[in-house]
Amino acid sequence: MADEHVLICVAWPYANGPLHLGHVAGCYLPPDIHARYERALGNRVLMVSGSDEHGTPITVTAETEGVNPQEIVDRYHSMNTKALLDLGCSWEPNIDPRGVDYGGSLFNRTTDEEHKKFVQENFISLLEAGMFEQKTMQQYYEIRDDGGGRFLPDRYVEGECPICGDDGARGDQCDECGATYEAHELNNPRSKMNPDAKIEIRDTEHFFYRLDRFQEVLEHHANERSPHWKANVRAMTKQWLDMGLRPRAVTRDLDWGISIPLDGNEWDDKCVYVWFEAVQGYYSCARIWSRRFAGKNDWRKWWCISDDGVTPRHLYFLGKDNIPFHTVIWPALIMGLNHANNGLGESDLVSLPGPGDLALESNVPAMEYLMLSGGQFSKSRKHAIWLPSFLERFDPDALRYYLSINMPENHDTDFNWPDFVEKVNSELNGAYGNYVNRIMSLGNKLGGDNPLSLYDLPDQCVDEMARLEEIYIQVTQSLNRHRYKEALRHVMSAAQYGNQMIQKATPWQYIGKEPTNEEDYELNRLSSLAKLAFGWRLARFLAITSQPFLPFSAQRLWKMLGQDGEVSSASYSSATDWDIPITWSNISKPLFSRLDLDAILEQEEALASSNHSNDKVDPGHGIKGSGKNSKKEEKKMKEENVGIQYLDFDTFMTMELRTGTITSVDDHPNADKLYVVSIDDGSEEGRTVCAGLKPYYAPGEMVGKTVVFVANLAPRKLRGVMSEGMICAADDENGNVKLVTIDGEITNGSRVR
Ligand SMILES: [Zn+2]
Repeated sequence: MADEHVLICVAWPYANGPLHLGHVAGCYLPPDIHARYERALGNRVLMVSGSDEHGTPITVTAETEGVNPQEIVDRYHSMNTKALLDLGCSWEPNIDPRGVDYGGSLFNRTTDEEHKKFVQENFISLLEAGMFEQKTMQQYYEIRDDGGGRFLPDRYVEGECPICGDDGARGDQCDECGATYEAHELNNPRSKMNPDAKIEIRDTEHFFYRLDRFQEVLEHHANERSPHWKANVRAMTKQWLDMGLRPRAVTRDLDWGISIPLDGNEWDDKCVYVWFEAVQGYYSCARIWSRRFAGKNDWRKWWCISDDGVTPRHLYFLGKDNIPFHTVIWPALIMGLNHANNGLGESDLVSLPGPGDLALESNVPAMEYLMLSGGQFSKSRKHAIWLPSFLERFDPDALRYYLSINMPENHDTDFNWPDFVEKVNSELNGAYGNYVNRIMSLGNKLGGDNPLSLYDLPDQCVDEMARLEEIYIQVTQSLNRHRYKEALRHVMSAAQYGNQMIQKATPWQYIGKEPTNEEDYELNRLSSLAKLAFGWRLARFLAITSQPFLPFSAQRLWKMLGQDGEVSSASYSSATDWDIPITWSNISKPLFSRLDLDAILEQEEALASSNHSNDKVDPGHGIKGSGKNSKKEEKKMKEENVGIQYLDFDTFMTMELRTGTITSVDDHPNADKLYVVSIDDGSEEGRTVCAGLKPYYAPGEMVGKTVVFVANLAPRKLRGVMSEGMICAADDENGNVKLVTIDGEITNGSRVR
């Protein structure tokens, strides 16, 4: 599969604040891992993204700060670009080191003049192909004292939520209760920026994109793609399509945006809607990269289906909140552009792309959310850890490791400091770092320029080779399926295997000892030192396979092993090339450093309490209720920030866990996934519990097992059957569920604690 054209499309970060770790885990780290992997396979990778710099959140921030929107986007574009590079995301160099035919990358911005030009060209093409309709909308209008005024976008209107009555509700949605509604439904509406100004609803003309024309073709597309999609992508796309697609506004009353390329005064105060233009960045960015760094038409290799029908692979990386944009709206725009480019018009049917057309997405490996100590990362509520300040204090690979091993692939995951420190210290440092350290120091004890090459005896290490070849297959299979967490676990299993191998071979017994004439001793010595020499190959395997995840430390290891050039240029499959001659460098430094949880928590506390003096980082938003907070609330905030959520012992003891034997398991009469389970809990009458175990256990596998259940959970009816408690089961992150059972025999009803 080498030599394919792969377009890696990374969701465009909004230039309205610094990136936080939630963004990184969900949107920015996975595509970099994947791009690095595809390059190492020998594919031709073009990676595109940039700052999304238009729209009302930016103008609101600018007006609040009293500066020009350009100042806001310049600030955060440069801050976020630097942070992504510091994290090792491969946005530089722009041209692939293998040559421009192999692609490259561009982190652009939507205020780029060339981007604007492409968007305006596309606007005209789509208009002429009959993809727009013009409609009258109602919008709030703010009247100034001098009689002039302006239309107010939804974010510029505030009032009382029609659902919960909260007085800080925005024009189109309420942050308090999460409801969305039309602006005219808001009670006591007022202008956010000028609360005393008179406002009224006025008519305004806008263009709408005819999404409805794509209903059928998108359903077809979704059916075809869904076997490759993750469950969350399938579900959200289906939900959108099932609701029925309606025309969607592509223009709005705002001046911070791309102007509408039409004559006539009525369009002067309006601009192209930000959703419509930012999503086109995937396309414009490839064209701009092509003009600046490659041949003018080279972008076509990554964007267009070839004459003989070969489709470039398009992978879109984004958070789950953005799925329908990439599986419904953006494909509809792409097909609209194909329609226009093929000279078709309003009366022609739209169709899926063919040779010469722009290609649709191959896969959209969308992520769930990374939570911060159980709460959602939020820019506006300041419940976040910012990437720039994180990277000032920690090694980027420590973060890349933690976010990869904890990636929110199939469900939300949690960032908390104790877990971060534990994983870096015990896994990254304890397994990987420790292994490398052993090989380097034992090798150096042997002495000489290239000590391990003397014991390079491949026929002594056949089993070890086979084991690594097996791990290699597991790693690549996981990466091909976008299961980064699983892939990294397989990589780490090689480090664990290496530690066991060295532990068993005990090479230290033979180092620095005089050779003897005893034949057995000599055979054992050679066998042991052959394992140590193979340890070099295993370390090289680790450098290559971990490179997409841990590019900085992989490169340090590469140098320590005496290998030339960049590990990122090494072919991924050469990780198991056993013919490479062993090299050596005599450099031996710890690969990772240990972290001290107490010191980190202390630092976090200090940062959290100085948070509101830190407003430059996130202007316009105080820490939730800062200044107004009671001491107690402030303490709570800090605890959330540092991730401690201890349970006190008395609270724990209120939970009554007991043992019981399952006596029968029946299907629940009204619920597909539930069993009705009878448990002998030591009492005369026993108890009945409804359990969602049907997907995991057959009734016969459960009957007779002694399990643990929560005995004092308030009884409640589940679909008509009273459930008295809950059976405990463990679930991992791969959908495995196993009952908690008892080791040996014990009286039913025994307390568990
Ligand atoms: Zn509300």
